[in-house]
Amino acid sequence: MENAYEYIACFFSFFMGACIASFINVVVWRVPRGESVVSPPSHCPKCSASIKWYHNIPIISYLALRGRCDSCSEKISPRYIFVESLGAVLFLAYFLRLYLSGLSFSFMLAYLLVGWVWLSLMLAGSLIDYDHKLLPDFVTVGGMVLGVLFHLSMTLFNFLNCDSTVSLLVKFMPLLYSLSGLAVGFGLLGLVRMLGTMAFKREAMGMGDVFLMGAIGAIFGPISVVLVIVLSSLFGSAAGLFLIALSKTKLGRYLEIPYGPFICLGCLVWMLAGNELVAAYLNFMRF
Ligand SMILES: [Zn+2]
Repeated sequence: MENAYEYIACFFSFFMGACIASFINVVVWRVPRGESVVSPPSHCPKCSASIKWYHNIPIISYLALRGRCDSCSEKISPRYIFVESLGAVLFLAYFLRLYLSGLSFSFMLAYLLVGWVWLSLMLAGSLIDYDHKLLPDFVTVGGMVLGVLFHLSMTLFNFLNCDSTVSLLVKFMPLLYSLSGLAVGFGLLGLVRMLGTMAFKREAMGMGDVFLMGAIGAIFGPISVVLVIVLSSLFGSAAGLFLIALSKTKLGRYLEIPYGPFICLGCLVWMLAGNELVAAYLNFMRF
C-alpha cells in the first residue's frame, strides 16, 4: 500500500461490500417469502415507520442508533450489522487478493466484478439455506450462467486479440475450462448424493447443493471443485461433531445441517488461497 489511490480503492471495496450486504439482508428476508425487494421501502417490522435514508447507511447507522428503531426503540437484530460487516470484509479481502496477485488492470477489474457478484450470491444463498434449508435458483443457476458467460466472453476476447498463429484450442480454453468445471462439479457431487442416498436410504443432500457445486465449477474450473468438496466436507463434519458434542445427540440421529454454507465457505477459501493450497499440496506429495 503506497499511495492514496490504493487506500481509496480499499475503502471503496469495503463500502461497496457493506452496501451490497445491506441489500442482501433485504433479499434474504423477502425473496423466500415471495415479496418484492424494492417495494415497500425498508420499514420497522414493529411500528412500520419507514427508515430514513440517513438511518439506512450500512454498519454506521446500526452503531449510531445503538441497534434500536429510531421511532419505537424496538431492538434491531445484530444479524444485520454482522452481515453488513461480513460483506464489507469479503469484498475488501477479494480486492486485495487480486490486487496483490499482479494481474493487469483490466483483467483484475473483470475478475473482481465476477468475484464480487459471486460472493454476493454465496452470501445470500448461505443465509437463505440457513434460514429455510433451500438454495434458491437465482444463486445456483445464476452462478452457472455467470461462470459460463464470463468464460465465453474471455474466449471472444481471445478471438478478437490473438492472431491466427494461436491454435483454436487455446482460444477456446476459457470456455472449455468453464464447461468442464460445470460438468465435474455437477457430476462429482451428484455421484456423492446418489451414493449417500443409497447408503442412508434417504436424501443425503439437496439438488441445490449439486447445482451450487456446478456453479463453482463453471466459475473457477474443475480443480476448484475437488478442493471445495474436500474443504466443505471437512468443515461440515467438524460443525456436525461440534453440534453432537454440544447437544449430546446420538451419532445415529439425523442432524439436519444445511450443507450449502459449508460449500460456500470452501469456495471462499479457494477464492482467497486456492492456488497456494494446491501448490502446497503438490509440494507436500513430492517430498
Ligand atoms: Zn419501530
